[in-house]
Amino acid sequence: MTAFPIQVERTRTLKDKPDIHTLGFGQVFTDHMFVMDYTEGEGWHSARIMPYQPITLDPSAMVFHYGQTVFEGMKAYVTATNEVLLFRPERNFQRLNHSNDRMCIPTINEAHALVALKELVQLDREWIPTAPGTSLYIRPFIIATEPYLGVAASKNYQFIIIMSPVGSYYKEGLNPVKILVEKQYVRAAKGGTGEAKTGGNYASSLKAAELASKEGYAQTLWLDSIENKYIEEVGSMNIFFKINGTVITPALNGSILPGITRDSILHMLHSQNIPVEERRISVDEVVEAYENGTLEEAFGTGTAAVISPIGEFKYGEQQILVNNNEIGLLTQSLYDKLTGIQNGTIEDTFDWTVII
Ligand SMILES: *Cc1c(COP(=O)(O)O)cnc(C)c1O
Repeated sequence: MTAFPIQVERTRTLKDKPDIHTLGFGQVFTDHMFVMDYTEGEGWHSARIMPYQPITLDPSAMVFHYGQTVFEGMKAYVTATNEVLLFRPERNFQRLNHSNDRMCIPTINEAHALVALKELVQLDREWIPTAPGTSLYIRPFIIATEPYLGVAASKNYQFIIIMSPVGSYYKEGLNPVKILVEKQYVRAAKGGTGEAKTGGNYASSLKAAELASKEGYAQTLWLDSIENKYIEEVGSMNIFFKINGTVITPALNGSILPGITRDSILHMLHSQNIPVEERRISVDEVVEAYENGTLEEAFGTGTAAVISPIGEFKYGEQQILVNNNEIGLLTQSLYDKLTGIQNGTIEDTFDWTVII
């Protein structure tokens, strides 16, 4: 591997660490951040780790106007023997480059990004919380920085990594959530940017999420943009159903975000010889399974919550209860196994974790 020099400027005053028992999500940030610039003609340069601080951008910076930006989300854990673990981090940088390609952002060197991340995590390792269910959330992102109001791909960018200690997603253990099936708004259209982790997808999802929340639902169930019939995702998670002993998840179709948790769950199911299908699944099929008593479990998957059991769907006037609003056996066992691998309490037979 070619040398990748990173200039390090350490902070002079370490910040106070938060109480790990009252940690929320993404509200406090560690002492340092990684920054690297891209200039047309020069490529990516000036890799540096510096004290966490505000950034200065020209008000005409293109990211503010046309949303040319991508991001990732991953976690670091500290084990009982004080080892620091990352979970499939190379997958996140691979996906960041897919998002980059879709958004006309120059790709990054994935190996260099991992070197930078490891160095940043190592420097701020005291920030990785140790309480059960807690972790260090890592947010790499890229923004278009060229000061120009023309609609075009920016000539300059910044790649930044920030980190935030996060609490257990579930304060009182895994609890099934209520989901509203969205009939009007869509998350991602065919041919659109649904497959990329880019800011605009989330900005456009807020309206439906707000309406669902007002009606008492935790998340939106997104349907396909053409027939408004096939299930795509739940909130910003991928979705799985267990129907009559078979686990079904929507096949990746270009508008679904290819989750790394989704991929990991699929590998785990295959290794346990549990029947799995990646295919189109309509809401009608779920309603039918509910009516004939074969809808056994449903859950969402994503880095933040890992696995989120679903207890109820509302589809128009129809109410669909899943497993009497209780967490299913398979959902619970997948959650226990995956979080166990991630935090080092269960042997990682998949070779997913990376020790820093
Ligand atoms: C990030 C994300 C996911 C989950 O991906 P993971 O790699 O499992 O964290 C699913 N759907 C959307 C829309 C996402 O943004």
